[in-house]
Amino acid sequence: MFRANASPSSAIATGAPRSVEPMSDVRGRIDRKIVRRALGVQMKRRDNEWIDHRYFRTYSVAARLTAAVSDPYTHLPGVESLTADGDILAFIAPWQSDTLVHKLARWVADDMFLEDTDGPYISKHDLGLGKNRRYLPVDLCLVAYGLSSAPGFEVPPPDGYYENVSTTMKVWRESTNVANACYDYFLNDIRVSQPYEVLLEAIGDEVFHVVFRNRELMFRLNQFLAELVQEIEPEMLTDTPELRKQFTARGDRLRRSKPPARAQRAVFFRDAGLCVICGVDLTGRFNILTAKNFDHIVPLAAGGLNDVTNLQLLCQGCNATKSDSPTGTSRTYPRFVAHPNPKPNAPWK
Ligand SMILES: [Zn+2]
Repeated sequence: MFRANASPSSAIATGAPRSVEPMSDVRGRIDRKIVRRALGVQMKRRDNEWIDHRYFRTYSVAARLTAAVSDPYTHLPGVESLTADGDILAFIAPWQSDTLVHKLARWVADDMFLEDTDGPYISKHDLGLGKNRRYLPVDLCLVAYGLSSAPGFEVPPPDGYYENVSTTMKVWRESTNVANACYDYFLNDIRVSQPYEVLLEAIGDEVFHVVFRNRELMFRLNQFLAELVQEIEPEMLTDTPELRKQFTARGDRLRRSKPPARAQRAVFFRDAGLCVICGVDLTGRFNILTAKNFDHIVPLAAGGLNDVTNLQLLCQGCNATKSDSPTGTSRTYPRFVAHPNPKPNAPWK
C-alpha cells in the first residue's frame, strides 16, 4: 500500500501522484478536500497517522532551524514581530498539534521560498513543457507534492551575475528585472494561494518528524521561545482574556496543564520508554506513568511552553531531582545498532 517514496526529481518527472486527478492551475481556487486527498495519495489515514514524506526541503529547513537557535534574528527574519505584534500569543495555547516546530518550520520554509526569488536556486527543468525552462523552487515543490500539475510561472532567461559570498563561494543573483518578476509572482500568486498553505503544512509535518528526536534542538528552540514568553507584557494579554487564562494568577508563567495522551505517546515512543537522564526502562510501566513522568525540558517557571516539543520522559526519581532547575535535557540516546567497539574511548583499529 505504500508507494516507494519518490525523490523530488522523479516526482517532478512523473507529474502529480498517480490516481490523483489533474489539479487546476496553482493560481486557481482548489477545494481543500481535493488537496488533502492529493497529499495523502491513497491513504485515508494520512491526516492523523501517516506522513508521505517527499523530503523536498526538509533537511535544509531543519538546518536553518538549528542555526536559528544561535542567531534567531538572522535566520527568522521578522522575529521581532513575535513580541512587538503579539504573534507570540499563537504559541501560548497548550498542547497544540501545530507545535512550536511546525510553526517555526513554516516560517523558515516560507522565508527560503521568498529568498529563492533572488536567484540562487532557480534551475532548469524539463517537465515535458520544453527544455531549458527555468522555474522557481516553490513551483517545483508544489508539483512534487501533487499540489499543482505544472509550474505556474516560467522564470525569464538569466541575465544576472555571480556574487562572491566568500573567498571560495559564488552565488548566482538574478538581474533586478528577473528578480522582481519572480518576487511579484511569489507574493501575488503563490503566497495567497491555498495549495501553498497546504504545502507549508506538509513541510512543517516533515520537519517535525525529522527533528523531534533531537532533544537538544527541542531544548534550545523552547529556550528561545521561553525568553520571549517572559517578555510578554500584561497589557498584551488583557485584549485576549482566553489567553490570559493560560497564565497563572500572577501572570509570570503558563499554568501547568496535563499533557494529553497523544503528547505522552509521542514522547514515550521518541524516548524509547527510557528515562532520558538515568536510562531506567519505563516500558513496563507505560500504563501507570503519570504526568510527572513527562517533564517540561524548559520549566514553566522559566517561561517554558506546554508544547510536546518541550517534553521529555523521566523516571520519577530524576524528575524529583531536576525539579525546576533549567538543566535542560541529556545528550545520550540508545543506539539503534550496538557499536562494534563497546569501549567508547578505545583507540580505533
Ligand atoms: Zn531517571
